[in-house]
Amino acid sequence: MIVVTTPHATEHDIEAIIKFLTEHGFDIHRSTGVQHTVIGAIGVQPDFDHRQVELLPGVAEVVRISDPYKLASRAFREEGTVIPIGSVEVGRDPVVVMAGPCSVESEEQIHIIAKRVKAAGATVLRGGAFKPRTSPYAFQGLGEEGLTFMRQAADAHGLAVITEVMDRSQIDMVERYSDILQVGARNMQNYTFLRDLGKASKPVMLKRGLSATIEEWLMSAEYILSGGNHNVMLCERGIRTFEPSTRNTMDIGAIPLVKKRSHLPIIADPSHGIGLRDKVIPMARAAVAAGADGIMVEVHHDPDHAKSDGAQSLFPDQFEQLMREVKIIAEAIGRRIA
Ligand code: PEP
Ligand code: MN
Repeated sequence: MIVVTTPHATEHDIEAIIKFLTEHGFDIHRSTGVQHTVIGAIGVQPDFDHRQVELLPGVAEVVRISDPYKLASRAFREEGTVIPIGSVEVGRDPVVVMAGPCSVESEEQIHIIAKRVKAAGATVLRGGAFKPRTSPYAFQGLGEEGLTFMRQAADAHGLAVITEVMDRSQIDMVERYSDILQVGARNMQNYTFLRDLGKASKPVMLKRGLSATIEEWLMSAEYILSGGNHNVMLCERGIRTFEPSTRNTMDIGAIPLVKKRSHLPIIADPSHGIGLRDKVIPMARAAVAAGADGIMVEVHHDPDHAKSDGAQSLFPDQFEQLMREVKIIAEAIGRRIA
């Protein structure tokens, strides 16, 4: 942490600031300038609240310089984390494509969609069996039956499975059917749940919370990592902003930013990120161009009758177009589609 004093700070103020920091366990480096004194406070004090320093007389500015997350940071692990999922690896050059319906609706539905997304080149089948719906009266998912349909469809077509787990009571069950445990945006700050996922044996994809900063998101990943599960990937799925024209605001900038700050792979979900089918393909292209390690896309063979998120689900032929286009983008930046 760097503390800059005001031009009018007295020697007494400066000594009081140094005393305060020393008492809280920091090593001090002082450099006295003409206008300001700069105090470097060195050390890791996780419970220290830097706002306390801002309140001291003579303090102009406090700048935190080290990241509060450790295990998730690029400094902890210079090379990127690689997560094996079935026949693919997330986090290497090939861009992994996860596709499927928002919800698993029936055995037939998931088989039809699995066949189409596999034919187009996807390697992971997505689909929710436990759905976090805004309304408690909306379709909540088929539960374990949906998981069995999904596993069978994925196995029949040589796909891996990603599906959402909504609370700790579902972890064991979802692990039996799924290759990746998806944590939904609404659960990103459910810290007791994240701790439980730290003990899970399957990789976790942690979606960004609706109004979470990148730092909060990485701190949530830290909960899972610190529990002992090192196979964590992140998923940018759009955030709430003042713009009402799209369902969410897809934060493409988060992709290169996270890649710089963290070694964890990052997946982009343009379907929830933009919320309308006609804009999903350009957002998928942008995500790959920005360096996403994978994309997750909602696809439905009959989106007009989908039980959830039909408006943002691509028709299978649109998904084929998406695959053709992201392939070109991936190759243009020295990658390929897994
Ligand atoms: C989903 O991917 O099925 C989902 C519910 O997404 P989110 O948690 O990002 O809203
Ligand atoms: Mn959805």
